Amino acid sequence: MIRYTLQCANSHRFEAWFKGSDAFDEQASAGQISCPDCGSVDVEKSLMAPGVPKKTSDVGPREFFNQVRAFRSKIMAETEDVGNSFPTEARKMHEGELEHRPIRGNASPTEVKELKDDGISVAPIPPEPPSEN
Ligand SMILES: [Zn+2]
Repeated sequence: MIRYTLQCANSHRFEAWFKGSDAFDEQASAGQISCPDCGSVDVEKSLMAPGVPKKTSDVGPREFFNQVRAFRSKIMAETEDVGNSFPTEARKMHEGELEHRPIRGNASPTEVKELKDDGISVAPIPPEPPSEN
């Protein structure tokens, strides 16, 4: 047996038991199911949206931007800005000429590719999110 919440053409809701999902369709199309309130045989299954747990992909833009801002300020606080000498500094650290330390700076796409080709890992800093108005 299966229980459905049904709704008639006049928006009355009632519950009824059926042998199976096919039984409802058969009985409804045969006009054998009538609304206890108004007698309407124009009934259909009342569909309910199940509760869907909140996923991370449901994070709104505001929350996402806040996360980006937090990430950026962490980078800014924990790295040294070496500006345009970033590729040189990164390579020197990689080759042991300089002590390893967290740095940030600028590099052209070609320089980034050269660094990566040499096995030096670099990552882009996410851009500043648009300011909230
Ligand atoms: Zn009704």
